[in-house]
Amino acid sequence: MDNCIFCKIVNKEIPSAIVFENEDILCFKDINPVAPVHILVIPKKHLTSLNDLTEDDMAVTGRIFVLIKQLAAEFGVAESGYRIVVNCGPDGGQEVGHLHYHLIGGKPLGKKIG
Ligand code: AMP
Ligand code: ZN
Repeated sequence: MDNCIFCKIVNKEIPSAIVFENEDILCFKDINPVAPVHILVIPKKHLTSLNDLTEDDMAVTGRIFVLIKQLAAEFGVAESGYRIVVNCGPDGGQEVGHLHYHLIGGKPLGKKIG
């Protein structure tokens, strides 16, 4: 997608603080962290939101959750706890139109949603 900022990050056209990368997944630090640990996990394939998912994407979305578990351990929040947030669409507060999973932790996050 030509104008997608996360596709540009995938293609290394703009810099990011990458913490993990494989053939189909990229993980990088959120530029505006809301907690000490705030990592974005994205499929490299452009999917605008959860609404774009099909059964073809089941393998990568499954791997994303195993990876999130590993990153939580690596960044020291597996035991203290963390939150996974996926915003979808305008009411969901999605600002970047490329599917992404927020991994947020490192402080008590309270009970608020999102
Ligand atoms: P959302 O509101 O769920 O679409 O979240 C978009 C997230 O992307 C926000 O937390 C932003 O801080 C983050 N973000 C936007 N641009 C960049 C960037 N160039 N590098 C890293 N994170 C970014
Ligand atoms: Zn994209």
